[in-house]
Amino acid sequence: MYFAVPDKYRQASDDELIQWIKEAKKSYGDRMLILAHHYQRLQVAELGDFVGDSYELSKNASERKDADYIVFCGVHFMAESAEILSGDNQKVFLPNPLAGCPMADMADIEDVMNAWNYLKEIGIAAQTLPLSYMNSAAELKAFCGREGGLICTSSNAKAAYKYVFDRAEKLFFFPDENLGYNTGRWMGFSDDEMVLWDFRSEDGGIDPDKLKKAKVILWKGHCHVHTNFKSQHVDEMREKFPGVKIAVHPECTWEVVDRADAVGSTKFLVNYIDEQPPGAIIAVGTEINLINRMAHRHPDKNIFELSGQICPVCANMYRTTLADLANTVENIDSFKKITIPKDIQAEAKLALDRMLEVH
Ligand code: SF4
Repeated sequence: MYFAVPDKYRQASDDELIQWIKEAKKSYGDRMLILAHHYQRLQVAELGDFVGDSYELSKNASERKDADYIVFCGVHFMAESAEILSGDNQKVFLPNPLAGCPMADMADIEDVMNAWNYLKEIGIAAQTLPLSYMNSAAELKAFCGREGGLICTSSNAKAAYKYVFDRAEKLFFFPDENLGYNTGRWMGFSDDEMVLWDFRSEDGGIDPDKLKKAKVILWKGHCHVHTNFKSQHVDEMREKFPGVKIAVHPECTWEVVDRADAVGSTKFLVNYIDEQPPGAIIAVGTEINLINRMAHRHPDKNIFELSGQICPVCANMYRTTLADLANTVENIDSFKKITIPKDIQAEAKLALDRMLEVH
């Protein structure tokens, strides 16, 4: 896909862009809602009417029926979820259409359908419910809705597991193997009860007998930002800063989350950092833009990223610039909106509504 911001915006100063965005926003009033994910760059996040994690933002989009235009500063799957949950009169826009999520792309619907058909072939699909992390394409959400499954976020993954096991014997989790595995461990499943479906291997690379016995089938996908953190980073921080609090996102591997003091969704991490006393030392295992914003908000606390050496940036979240946002809000009536075929939208909404129910 080719996408370029017109020269007017590329050549403008930050001050000019901010002024244009505020003026456009003012002229539309409540009819325009700017949503910004916590991982957005500081200048963009500051212009959001609401800043939150993917769950909070989709809930906000579903509740603000008065907004005709929803400008979603995040990545593609988030704008799609907002489109699914918003009303027919509302239009959703992604200021930089190139902003995707590599983790969501790891669960391609064709690969998922091949896996599901294989489960049918060996006779276990009827006892299995699919559960997809919010970070997934609309087609995958629709598949979950169609098959009686649901969507979860990092804050309601345990409740979603319970929802599945109240109704089925097995769970097929997409696309983040780490959130899936960590939740499985917290719910008491052993390594013997969880298997990893590798979509690049024939029949998932799993022995059929093992697959038949498994309770939790995990899709082999990951977030390249959160898997940067290693257990040795936790050990090094503890040695270097006695009393340090380690707070991490559940997309990190089990070795990291198991050693941390606090594990939770982006919203949870924000609250956890807010609640620490002045002078606290907090090493955080998540995206760098959120960590920097929290450090900026709490100059009386020592807040830094967990590895001490890498820059865990989500390049896709970082794609959205002030120029993209100004271009979108000033040209909203000609800007391409997010569209999803009606049948996909209806089935995906079933899965998302179940998510909102179990939160
Ligand atoms: S941080 Fe990871 S999961 Fe979140 S949007 Fe970026 S790549 Fe996707």
